[in-house]
Amino acid sequence: MAGGSGACYTPRVAAPVRRRRARRPARGRRLVVKGTVMARRRQLYEGKAKILFEGPEPGTLVQYFKDDATAFNAQKKGVITGKGVLNNRISEYLMVRLGEIGIPTHFVRRLNMREQLIREVEIIPLEVVVRNIAAGSLSQRLGIPEGTRLPRSIIEYNYKNDALGDPLVSEEHVTCFGWANTQDLDDVVALTLRINDFLTGLFLGVGITLVDFKLEFGRLWENEEMRIVLADEISPDNCRLWDSKTNEKMDKDRFRRDLGKVEEAYQEVAKRLGILPEAGTRDMKGPEIMQ
Ligand code: 5GP
Repeated sequence: MAGGSGACYTPRVAAPVRRRRARRPARGRRLVVKGTVMARRRQLYEGKAKILFEGPEPGTLVQYFKDDATAFNAQKKGVITGKGVLNNRISEYLMVRLGEIGIPTHFVRRLNMREQLIREVEIIPLEVVVRNIAAGSLSQRLGIPEGTRLPRSIIEYNYKNDALGDPLVSEEHVTCFGWANTQDLDDVVALTLRINDFLTGLFLGVGITLVDFKLEFGRLWENEEMRIVLADEISPDNCRLWDSKTNEKMDKDRFRRDLGKVEEAYQEVAKRLGILPEAGTRDMKGPEIMQ
């Protein structure tokens, strides 16, 4: 099984995850932008699949999961009915399991069907992609047939910038342009490899192969201290998940490639993880209001 912890990197000295920093940056430099007054609470940011609202206490946010789906840098758009409900549950489940093994995350608790309370972090503008098996853009870029098991897990970085199409970048670009420093990257790599090892085993246990996935990390400031934590979500939207026996796709590639049975695939992942909402998919369509 793929998912060994050795990635293609020069060995580094193990770095502590918690560090001390001089000052927290000004609020205006954080991810959350453009406050919009909403009827009941303030919307801070709307992405393709999620909305962030101001949280009930300072330093918290409410993350709302939409059913909207996009692909190919939003050139393809659609709706996957019930996706937001399932991704909220799946991401909650995985973040909690990761928290149990000591991975720091932004997740606090799930609030309702579509919302979770998270800690406000300063997002590092990188998509950190981990690959165990060749697929997607790696196969396209390098001509490696989809399904080829990689000799080692690979970590790639994409600069989070929709206008540029999230271009692939190297560690040199990341540090040169100040998106993260080498210490940040050491922490990101260490956390990413542990997450990959853990999730590979977790999914394998329910008959799913973790082919690749995308993570995002943020800086969490507590007083004068900063630590890197896992942010965003982990769900079939940002993982490639294949049935271990048949290699059938159980993730957003079903939407990207018009394979059909998209909702069913997300439900099957939730079902195998044992976390389908008690009411099944019956209540997934209507908007849920935070209590
Ligand atoms: P690829 O680079 O092959 O398109 O994607 C690699 C992995 O990262 C896949 O599991 C894919 O779902 C995830 N990924 C890459 N970019 C994005 C993105 O912009 N949004 C989401 N949700 N996932 C992404």
